[in-house]
Amino acid sequence: MLGGMQDFELRVSTLLDHAAREHGSREIVTRWADGSETRTDWAGIARDARRLAQALERLGVKPGDRVATMAMNHSRHLVAWYGTIGMGALIHTINPRLFDDQLAFIANHAEDRVLLYDKAFAPIVDRLRGQWPTIAHYVCFDGDDAQGFEALIAREDGDYAWVQGDEREPCMLCYTSGTTGNPKGVVYTHRSTVIHAITELQPAEFDLSTQSVAMPIVPMFHAVGWGLPFAGAAVGAKFVFSAVNEPRILCDLMNREKVTHSAGVPTVWFGMFQHMDATGDAPQHLKIVTIGGSAAPRAMIERLMRMGVRVNHAWGMTETSPIGTMGAPSADWDDLSFEQQVDQVAMQGKVPFGVELRVVDDEGAVLPRDGKSSGRLHVRGPWVIRQYFGEEAPAVDADNWFDTGDVAVLHPDGTMQITDRAKDVIKSGGEWISSVELENAAVGCAGVAEAAAIGVYHPRWEERPILLVVRKPGSEVTAEAIQAYLAQHVARWWLPDEVHFVDELPHTATGKLLKTAIRARYKDFRLA
Ligand code: ADP
Repeated sequence: MLGGMQDFELRVSTLLDHAAREHGSREIVTRWADGSETRTDWAGIARDARRLAQALERLGVKPGDRVATMAMNHSRHLVAWYGTIGMGALIHTINPRLFDDQLAFIANHAEDRVLLYDKAFAPIVDRLRGQWPTIAHYVCFDGDDAQGFEALIAREDGDYAWVQGDEREPCMLCYTSGTTGNPKGVVYTHRSTVIHAITELQPAEFDLSTQSVAMPIVPMFHAVGWGLPFAGAAVGAKFVFSAVNEPRILCDLMNREKVTHSAGVPTVWFGMFQHMDATGDAPQHLKIVTIGGSAAPRAMIERLMRMGVRVNHAWGMTETSPIGTMGAPSADWDDLSFEQQVDQVAMQGKVPFGVELRVVDDEGAVLPRDGKSSGRLHVRGPWVIRQYFGEEAPAVDADNWFDTGDVAVLHPDGTMQITDRAKDVIKSGGEWISSVELENAAVGCAGVAEAAAIGVYHPRWEERPILLVVRKPGSEVTAEAIQAYLAQHVARWWLPDEVHFVDELPHTATGKLLKTAIRARYKDFRLA
C-alpha cells in the first residue's frame, strides 16, 4: 500500500522557482574580473536561466547532454547552472587549474557539447580547442561580441517550462583528480542535490536563511562550490560573488555588501589575515565562516573565533556532494572554555542526518568509536557516490560504503577527526598534486635512481611537495637539474619546494615506497 501524500519530484529547478517566487528581489551581486560590478536578483537569475535553456535547445543540446563551464564565481555562472539543469542537461564544472592533458581528457570523457568560459581562461580554450572534438559551441561569459553569453540569451524571450522528470535523473557532473590515473566523474542527481541543499540550511551546517548574505569564495568548479548555489536558493539568500579571489577585493566587498556567511579553503583565510595585518582592515559583518577542503589549522580557527565569528570546519569530498561532516559548536559548548571550544572545532565534527561514517582497519574490521582507534574512513548516505561516470563497477561495497582514502578516528560522541591520508596525494592550497606522478616524472631525470614526493606543512598552502631523491651510483645530479627537468614534465605549481638527497628510502615487503614511514620522518618539518 502507498501513502496518501503527493509525489513531488525533488528537481533542482524547484529550488530556483522557489527563490524567484518567494525571494525574487533578494540580490545577486557580482564583482567581475575587470573591476565592474553588476546586481541582479533571484527573479533575474530565473528569467536568464530560462532564456539560457531556450538558447541551449536552439544550439541542439538535449536532455542528458553535458554543458561545461570553465569559470569563476559570478551571476552568469549561476544562471548557467540553473538553465542547463532546468532543461534536463548536466552542468559540468571544469577546474581550469588542472593541466592540459587532464583538461583534454575530462571534456572528452564527459563528451561536453558546449563550453561556457570566462575571458580569463580564453588562452586555455585557444590551446585545447583542437583536442575537444565533441564541443560544438564556445560561449564566453564576459565576451561582449555577438558570440558572448549576454548576446546568446538576449535572443530568447524566457517563455520556457522546465523539463520535468524523475528526481533520480542526473543534473551535474564534477571530476575529481586526487590520485593517479585519469580524473573520475561524479554524477549528482536532482534528488541528491536537493536533499543536500536542504541539509546545508540547518543551524549545525551553514545555517542559511533569507537574511544571510553569502559569499562563497570556494570556486563553483570545486566540489559544487560546496553546494551553496543550491542551498542559497532554497531560502533566497543574497549572494555576493567575486570573479577575483584577492583578499583586498574580497574584504572590501564583504564590508560594502555586509556579508554574513563565507566559505573557502584555509589558504583563502590565510590571505585574508595577511591583508588584515597589513592594512588594519577586517570583515565587519561575518557571522559564520566555513573552512574545508583541507584541515583548518587551529590558529586560524582561533583567530576567527576571537573576531566573534563562528567557524564551521567542514570535511567532505567531491564524492559526497560535498558535505560529510561539520566541526561546529557541540551540545556542551557553553560548558567549555574558549580553548576547549577551539579544540572542538579543530576536529572535523559530526555528520548531519543522512550521512553515516565508520572507520575500518586494514582487514576491513569495523573499529570502535573510542576516540583512539584510527582506520580508513568509510561514508554512505543519500548524497554519497554510488558509481563514477562511465564506469561499470560500483564505487562502493555491497552495503554502499564508500572508502574515502582518509584516515580518521571517531570519538564516542560521533565527532570525526582526520588523522592522516591513505591516498598518495598532496593538497596544496585546495588543489591536488599526485605524488606518484611527481615521482614518476623525477625518475625520468638522468642521475635519479629513486624519488619519493611527500607533502609537508607550509604556512600559506597548508601542504607543499618536497622530493626525496636517491642518486644513481656515481651521479652528481643537482637539485637545480632535477627541478629544471621536472619543469618540462609537470605543472609549475607542482614543482617541489625542496629537493633532498638521501642514501636510501624505506620500502614495504613488496618493494613499494613506505610512505607512512617517510611522512612520519618529516612530520615536524616546516617550510618557511
Ligand atoms: P574538495 O574540493 O571539497 O576539497 P576533493 O574531493 O577535491 O573535495 O577533496 C576531498 C579530500 O580533501 C578529502 O578526502 C580529504 O582528504 C581532504 N579534506 C577535505 N576537507 C578536509 C578537512 N576539513 N580536514 C582534512 N582533510 C580534508
